[in-house]
Amino acid sequence: MSEIHHCRQCGTCCRKGGPALHVEDGALLSEGVIQLQDLVTFRAGELVRDSSTNSVVPLPAEIVKIAAPAGSRPDDWTCRFLMEDNRCFIHEKSPAECKALFCDDPKALLGMHGKERLDRKAILELLRAPQWLMDAVEAHEARCSYGSLIDLASQLEEKEEARKALVEVVEYDRAFRDLMVEKGNVAREMLDFLFGRPLMYTVIMFGIDARTNADGSITLVQTTKATLKR
Ligand code: SF4
Repeated sequence: MSEIHHCRQCGTCCRKGGPALHVEDGALLSEGVIQLQDLVTFRAGELVRDSSTNSVVPLPAEIVKIAAPAGSRPDDWTCRFLMEDNRCFIHEKSPAECKALFCDDPKALLGMHGKERLDRKAILELLRAPQWLMDAVEAHEARCSYGSLIDLASQLEEKEEARKALVEVVEYDRAFRDLMVEKGNVAREMLDFLFGRPLMYTVIMFGIDARTNADGSITLVQTTKATLKR
């Protein structure tokens, strides 16, 4: 006889991060239950903790997740649909991972790991977004991929050119986002979906603190030595 799971609605799962979206969640996007400004992309190569090996490894492929509320601290991963009373704002239409997750028995959720996930291209096609938006995603990726960042970050201590090149990529990422808002009329709230989280914040994963100087330029300060693997 199958065990009946009873969710205690403690909200703990929802505070550990919103769900990654899968193909079966497509209807939630086309119906507008979930909108692009609710999403954040973790790009391929971004460093994440692998709980099975307890090590930090690059993501093999991008994932798109429901984001934390606007203005949250960078280390706050709470799903933006979690309400103060621990209920889910979109409970009847919550994504597949939320339906599969039971915190005392995560087998069903683990079974979905890496399977049929929606990426940015699939989501933009599903919503029939203009082609130039996907072109912009690809242009940004070509200049700001985490693969190239890992290479540069691993050479920072030995090569001054690597530091300069890394600063240029971080500045490019910042300028590219501003350009999309100012010239492309892209809502600023959509940038974390289209281009992932700003490199100004994420270079900390390489043990680097990015600081903005009075003249607007960026200085990178090495804080810790990150373990960098490709
Ligand atoms: S969508 Fe709802 S159930 Fe899923 S993580 Fe967010 S608040 Fe929790």
